[in-house]
Amino acid sequence: MLRNRAPQTIAAANGIGKDSAFGAVAPPLYLSTTFTFDGFNRPRAYDYTRAGNPTRDLLADTIAQLEAGAGAVIVASGTAAIDLTLVCLEPGDLIVAPHDCYAGTWRLLTARQARRQFDVVFIDFADAAALELALARSPKLVLIETPSNPLMRIVDIRLVSEQAKAAGAKVIVDNTFLSPALQQPIKLGADFVIHSTTKFLNGHSDVIGGVVVAADPTDVKELTDWANTTGVTGAPFDSYMTLRGIRTLFARVERQERTAAAVAAFLSAHPAVLAVYYPGLPSHPGHAIAKAQQNGFGAMLSFEIAGGLDAVRRFVEAVEIFTLAESLGGIESLVAHPCTMTHASMSPEARHAAGISDSLLRLSVGLENEADLLGDLARALEAV
Ligand code: PLP
Repeated sequence: MLRNRAPQTIAAANGIGKDSAFGAVAPPLYLSTTFTFDGFNRPRAYDYTRAGNPTRDLLADTIAQLEAGAGAVIVASGTAAIDLTLVCLEPGDLIVAPHDCYAGTWRLLTARQARRQFDVVFIDFADAAALELALARSPKLVLIETPSNPLMRIVDIRLVSEQAKAAGAKVIVDNTFLSPALQQPIKLGADFVIHSTTKFLNGHSDVIGGVVVAADPTDVKELTDWANTTGVTGAPFDSYMTLRGIRTLFARVERQERTAAAVAAFLSAHPAVLAVYYPGLPSHPGHAIAKAQQNGFGAMLSFEIAGGLDAVRRFVEAVEIFTLAESLGGIESLVAHPCTMTHASMSPEARHAAGISDSLLRLSVGLENEADLLGDLARALEAV
């Protein structure tokens, strides 16, 4: 394995040309569920794929290095990754989470709270008094999602990590919207980073997967053991595909971000658009923090369209290149209506509190030609 190289080199080349059996350049895919013993009571490095697998381990090593963590655990989905970080919570323990998080995260936390497995408080991280009040309750975990899904709000990871640690809590950052190419939360003080690798890391909308990266080797060991105990470890084929996606992570994200900036500028100047949420815009309230803690502004943005639900319907029916679908971070451009799609599992009250309106649309900007994408948006906005 490569060590101590630039992240672009780790992404492109970790594990390349290291096959000891036949000298394969691309690391082999080990689908086998089980591995031979060397003899009686003499297991080799791997014995059973739920517990460990060479293809999955190479993916874990690659992401751990990209995130500057001590190690990583590859699991079956981003949701499973968040769930795995919750194993340290006991009844009565508290987790602080953002009120505008991904709705699946909201559903997971509220469902487990309803079973009295732990307590959760959802707060607006931009509200310093609310954060102070929540930390005064001595939470065990603080979950940050920055930029948040779908409103692209920015949280100061370094500041919140310091405050959380002073209160005795460990910090988890959901880095799904940026990928380690654009943000490395462990370097800013986080204890855990989670990803839905389904998104930018795999990048091709053909694998559901997740990862937890931990800063502390003890946490890596504990989470590795729990993932095996609960059986949530990721499949070798999915790991192989995700590693293949990571090879082009930096090239994809760089290009997609450039086009997203052009899309944000175009939408900001359009009369049918009421507001644009993109941290790269100097008018975005989180712009300065994003600029300081990120290596770029990413390829996700959302906007409010004038004309309510009717306009939303006409817009999504008129686009031809942007595809109406959930998910994000792939090579193709997608449009989603959070209220009826990604955030439909949130209660209307929770959506309202988070500021997710009926006229909000979310864009994931892909690798298509910039002029084609802007033309597609212009035509669809004419139709509203
Ligand atoms: N975190 C964020 C920010 C997401 O957007 C998503 C899914 O959209 C998840 C976590 C959950 O990931 P998965 O769908 O892989 O379970």
